[in-house]
Amino acid sequence: MVALPEIIRHKTHAVKVGNVVIGGGAPVVVQSMTNTDTADVEATYQQVKALYEAGSEVVRLTVNTEEAARAVPQIRAKLLADGLDVPLVGCFHYNGHKLLHDVPECAEALAKYRINPGNVGFGKKRESQFELMIEAAIKHNKPVRIGVNWGSLDQDLATRLMDENAALSKPLPSDYVMREALVQSALLNAQKAESMGLAKDKIILSAKVSRVQDLVAVYRALAERSNYALHLGLTEAGMGSKGIVATAIAEGLLLQDGIGDTIRASLTPEPGAGRELEVKVCQELLQVMGLRHFAPQVTACPGCGRTTSTFFQELAGKVQGYIESEIANWREKYPGVEELNIAVMGCIVNGPGESKHADIGISLPGTGEAPTAPVFIDGKKAHTLRGAGIAEEFQQILSDYISQRFS
Ligand code: SF4
Repeated sequence: MVALPEIIRHKTHAVKVGNVVIGGGAPVVVQSMTNTDTADVEATYQQVKALYEAGSEVVRLTVNTEEAARAVPQIRAKLLADGLDVPLVGCFHYNGHKLLHDVPECAEALAKYRINPGNVGFGKKRESQFELMIEAAIKHNKPVRIGVNWGSLDQDLATRLMDENAALSKPLPSDYVMREALVQSALLNAQKAESMGLAKDKIILSAKVSRVQDLVAVYRALAERSNYALHLGLTEAGMGSKGIVATAIAEGLLLQDGIGDTIRASLTPEPGAGRELEVKVCQELLQVMGLRHFAPQVTACPGCGRTTSTFFQELAGKVQGYIESEIANWREKYPGVEELNIAVMGCIVNGPGESKHADIGISLPGTGEAPTAPVFIDGKKAHTLRGAGIAEEFQQILSDYISQRFS
């Protein structure tokens, strides 16, 4: 008997971000970030709406100027007017202390402030400006994400650790020291925020790097040394399949260890493309790991020389498209439909087996096989489809099955 590996979630404090709970054993939350000019209210509203409707449960936007800060409450009001209560996170660098103070409506409209300790200021100003941001969080009763980043690491801390390492009889490689600096920067700043009166359940940590193994090492250290809720993200993951693979493996390894309360896929979009792919990648990552269910899962074989027509690829694509077009409606009408497993298989070799294993599956005829397509429901052969209308008939059978099982 082979048991499934058990994922034991790392115990963290639950943090309320608007209407969403992050940490404390709550389901792992999907986040995303806009790339519009936040000062452009209409464009940012449209992008937040698109991300939210794609499944992003929290959306971050940059707040880099006074115009952007003044736009935030307007964006939030437009979303609420449409019934979209999406928590907005303000991403601050360099001038966050000033914007939160000068534009209190922005501080109030945001559900969380992202603070990068490496970018709040320099020298003595670093301390005081960090403190001003924490004071704003306490005053407006908001949580913060203390988000350190390899590319903007606190240089004073990094230099001190490098000097201490150099003084050792056997100095460690510099990468070790940089990883330690990231971890310490996140933890020291969180402790500082706590010492100022910000509660543990108002603090989320992140420590983003762009290499998979660095990310795993840094987050394992954060989880070992603290119980703050953790936001996972591989920064600058890249474009296309490389960005998706790197994000999935880095975050997947950590999620398998039970580490991570909220995730983002920092993918570089194709020019002119929307940002919804990063939401889809996060959802699919959580779903394939069995951590959450967002939509019925389609198991399709890759196809090979045993199925030479394109019919099988077309059917798999049609079923996937049908699910995507119907899922919002199904979620409302049929609770639990997200857990459905559907198989679309190319020939007799694995087709009947996989189809029986799924809740509902179809095994198409391969080259040289009789032109029939058995449909299996709950492990038993229920129909045999033939002819040109197989795709439409299977879609109808699927629709009937869903309404009978989940009504
Ligand atoms: S099920 Fe058939 S068509 Fe699909 S990969 Fe396996 S052998 Fe090839």
